[in-house]
Amino acid sequence: VKRNPNETEFHQAVKEILDSLVPVIAKHPKYKQHGILERMVEPERLISFRVPWVDDQGAVQVNRGFRVQFNSAIGPYKGGLRFHPSVNASIIKFLGFEQTLKNSLTGQPIGGGKGGSDFDPKGKSEGEVMRFTQSFMTELYKYIGSDIDVPAGDIGVSGREIGYMFGQYKRIRGGNEAGVLTGKNILFGGSLARTEATGYGAVYFVNEMLQSKGLSFEDSTVVISGSGNVSIYAIQKATQLGAKVVACSDSNGYVYDKDGIKFETVQRLKEVERKRISEYVNEHPSAVYVEGCQNIWTIPCDIALPCATQNEINEASARLLVANGVKAIGEGANMPSTLEAIDVFLQNDVLFGPAKAANAGGVAVSALEMAQNSMRYQWHFHEVDDKLHEIMKNIYRNSVAAAQEYGYPGNLVVGANIAGFIKVADSMIAQGVI
Ligand code: NDP
Repeated sequence: VKRNPNETEFHQAVKEILDSLVPVIAKHPKYKQHGILERMVEPERLISFRVPWVDDQGAVQVNRGFRVQFNSAIGPYKGGLRFHPSVNASIIKFLGFEQTLKNSLTGQPIGGGKGGSDFDPKGKSEGEVMRFTQSFMTELYKYIGSDIDVPAGDIGVSGREIGYMFGQYKRIRGGNEAGVLTGKNILFGGSLARTEATGYGAVYFVNEMLQSKGLSFEDSTVVISGSGNVSIYAIQKATQLGAKVVACSDSNGYVYDKDGIKFETVQRLKEVERKRISEYVNEHPSAVYVEGCQNIWTIPCDIALPCATQNEINEASARLLVANGVKAIGEGANMPSTLEAIDVFLQNDVLFGPAKAANAGGVAVSALEMAQNSMRYQWHFHEVDDKLHEIMKNIYRNSVAAAQEYGYPGNLVVGANIAGFIKVADSMIAQGVI
């Protein structure tokens, strides 16, 4: 805390992980001897830079860009870029730290990184988004490469922004280094099923948790926060598995549809028309719109999938969900539950799928995109989806096994942290003091 003052989100992520690692450190003194924890919480580097651009009125605007290259012990840095006004060093570091263990959990050879800017894409014209994004890449290109650091999307960064960044990277660097970014358009090196991967993966993961208790998505009531990339495809997959998704949201409020949220409408409104979720009710008389996104957790449900942003479920919301009979939580977003909320879920025997396990499907398919780029080949949708499904099952199995081995049976927070940690820590030891 002294070394990283005011970085509350980073402190929160580190605390959750270090608390989980107590039994591992006790059992294996080598991690202490090699100073693994001290090294792991310090990013290899944090780059911060100026992003100047010109708005539609001809005025110069300045934003701040970031890239944290957290840990390269098991492969090139890998992690998304976030464009949101809340972005700062603390948020980028919490995401990068989480990403390191998440990427390890996928079983693929990718290190941890993250980046972004405090640029707010909301209300910006197409031209403004492109000029900002090109300016952002004009600095970022110096630090990335298909064997060095491979960014992808996150909040506020979708296929459109990745396309502009890829175009700018090629203008500066020349050549056609497809593997430098993932989440690309399918027309120029993207992977089928990447757009769906995080949402589908989260549902696959929760399905494993449910099955372990003889439960399923079939006929269950589901609440999914957000209406962005992760939420949209979580809605689709949960519905395909027989659930009724009754609500989704954006940062202004939520829609409740007693007949079930229509995936096609949300997808069109958000991906094509880039409208607010409140517009949903204009097309579906069965739905109501309620101001205030936090209130979405007042809706009774069997399964809750927070897929919007960090700390969207606090202790009070967690208590409400439990009182309303929730059986499972799957974190589609990164760190959507506060530490207090997680305690509430665990103490009440709610099945809890932590972010670094439940939402690892996105980065897993990004690594499959890198593999396809290297092979100059494209797999079919079902091939990628099958691999994703298998990866999510493995993450579940490995997390369960680690939790069991270290004395916390059923606690996937502990299990995922330990399973992700060991591979990175052992790689760091094997590579000397790096
Ligand atoms: P999008 O930008 O596509 O969507 C984000 C959604 O969350 C929007 O509905 C947005 O509403 C809402 N939201 C964002 N910030 C806030 C906030 N401060 N308060 C309330 N609602 C908010 O992002 P993604 O779907 O890609 O990402 C969502 C979460 O999933 C993030 O935590 C991200 O880190 C995580 N994640 C994403 C992966 C991916 O592959 N995309 C992979 C793994 C994790 P509004 O439009 O009003 O801002």
